[in-house]
Amino acid sequence: MKKDVHPAFFPKSETVCACGAKYTIGSTKENISVEICAVCHPFYTGNDKVLDTAGRAEKFKARKEAGTKKKSAK
Ligand SMILES: [Zn+2]
Repeated sequence: MKKDVHPAFFPKSETVCACGAKYTIGSTKENISVEICAVCHPFYTGNDKVLDTAGRAEKFKARKEAGTKKKSAK
């Protein structure tokens, strides 16, 4: 390998997830923290955990309407 161009490599870098799961992987970073991993991600757990997406279209429509009203008032 060429000298002074490669970052330091940690063969036993520790990755910690917000759910508490820990992984030991090889990385150029010594410690990594993630919000979601294969243990807790709904895709892998099979849970249909919907992350607050309900009512978004309705909220947007309401905002759009409010904006149109303001414009026409001028
Ligand atoms: Zn996790």
